[in-house]
Amino acid sequence: MPDHIKHHLTDDLLMSYSAGNLPEAFGLVVAAHVSMCDECRARLGAFDTLGGSVIETCPGVEMDRGSLDATLSKIAKAPPIALGAAPAPGVLPAPVRDYVGGDLEAVRWRPVGLGVKQSILRTSKAATVRLLYIPAGAAVPDHGHHGTELTLVLQGAFSDECDRFAAGDIEIANEEVDHTPVADIGADCICLAATDAPLKFKGLLPRLAQPFLRI
Ligand code: ZN
Ligand code: ZN
Repeated sequence: MPDHIKHHLTDDLLMSYSAGNLPEAFGLVVAAHVSMCDECRARLGAFDTLGGSVIETCPGVEMDRGSLDATLSKIAKAPPIALGAAPAPGVLPAPVRDYVGGDLEAVRWRPVGLGVKQSILRTSKAATVRLLYIPAGAAVPDHGHHGTELTLVLQGAFSDECDRFAAGDIEIANEEVDHTPVADIGADCICLAATDAPLKFKGLLPRLAQPFLRI
């Protein structure tokens, strides 16, 4: 487990996650960070408790027939949360392994160019989440964002115009951020990245390839 996490989730993200309001792709990045980070796990626990007490103190309302069944089936279908789960060895956090069907050896990578590889995970269509493999010293092409991009480092580290991000760190980018993430020289970097809108690439080649790569 990384013990020097510097970049954390915002309270907005943790609250939305606790309330079940995030698209599945973002929820997975939040769950993965929370499984690696004691600090955010504690804050999420506080929001969960708060949410529960709000429900308890609300005055009772007449409920439809079937709403209990609907709620129970929603709970049954919710993705498992790794709260307090014992850390298992491997690179991928438990919530990500559930999607991949194993650790790194089970990931089906597709080349994106310049040695960078990706694997898109299957989630609801509201947002997209992918694993990214950036070889040591390589760069993801310079790009901006139409929406929100959440990037969680799982192995190695990268630096961009904003800061350096190492294992466990999360970078939150939006319309105002243009960046070129470059992996550290020492180790290949593996990230989990969720986006709710296509990226804006500066170079012509990435722009041409974009529709095929679903970036
Ligand atoms: Zn954190
Ligand atoms: Zn980006």
